Amino acid sequence: AKQEGKHTYRFYSESIESTGYTLIEMETKLHKALERNEFILHYQPQVNLETGEVCGIEALIRWNHPQMGFVSPADFIPLAEETGLIIPIGKWVLSTACRQNKELQDKGLPPIVVSVNLSAIQFYQHDLVEVVDGVLKESGLDPRYLELEITESMTMDVSRTIKILNGLKKLGVKISIDDFGTGYSSLAYLKKFPIDKLKIDQSFVAELLKDSNDATIVQTIIAMAKNMGLRVNAEGVETKEQFLLLQQHFCNEVQGYLLCKPLPLDSLLEKLPEVRLT
Ligand code: C2E
Ligand code: CA
Ligand code: CA
Ligand code: CA
Repeated sequence: AKQEGKHTYRFYSESIESTGYTLIEMETKLHKALERNEFILHYQPQVNLETGEVCGIEALIRWNHPQMGFVSPADFIPLAEETGLIIPIGKWVLSTACRQNKELQDKGLPPIVVSVNLSAIQFYQHDLVEVVDGVLKESGLDPRYLELEITESMTMDVSRTIKILNGLKKLGVKISIDDFGTGYSSLAYLKKFPIDKLKIDQSFVAELLKDSNDATIVQTIIAMAKNMGLRVNAEGVETKEQFLLLQQHFCNEVQGYLLCKPLPLDSLLEKLPEVRLT
């Protein structure tokens, strides 16, 4: 890996190297993946700490290649961004997530929000708002049950970001800032963005009980979010201790292996009734 953190420089990833394929070969495979239906969405439940109930699910893409097996999104998303394939792949993710969430509602389940990760290239795509609008209409999903996750690094162009976010908010969807605390977004701008939620990066949650600095960061993000009228999600919650501490600090929702791993839709449906806080 060249320069961690900046997706665009990451595509000589070790795990792609370990497949024995060249970058060009991987690109060709990625090109065919959509038409061959090799992508699937897994969903990870998000639990509301006040009600104890599942309030949302995050859609996480998986690439199941016939020879290579499961390729991690951390490896192929950067490649998809480099090649521009992220546009059709991102649209597939959006429309699949909306359609499947509508299916859950049609089965009579209590309505929950589906969160979809947007890549920077998708976010700055000129017709993003139209694409999201079209996907929502096609699926029949009420826009309030779709949340779009963006990252701090995508918000550097402040005036463009505000314009895009306003367009999306007008549709009625929710917006969250993913991996919060790892970027360099200015707090002064943050309050200008029409966002709904901050997702505390899992690196802070991982060290919550071991590193007092991380504990302070988490507490501060929660307090700041509350002051700004935003909801807070803590992700990567793996232990009961982390969970209890987050609850003590009035975090709004948690997600992580402690509650449930990301699962394909059919397994999720089986598992959902058990996922709750007691
Ligand atoms: P992310 O959006 O920050 O997603 C959270 C990652 O943490 C997921 O990895 C999830 O499986 C993992 N995770 C969940 N709970 C735990 C936990 O308790 N402990 C630990 N250690 N990990 C946990 P995943 O699915 O491999 O996705 C990696 C990244 O790939 C995502 O990070 C996101 O940036 C990107 N990604 C995934 N799906 C999509 C997509 O549809 N579109 C775009 N643009 N990016 C995606
Ligand atoms: Ca995410
Ligand atoms: Ca994240
Ligand atoms: Ca991440």
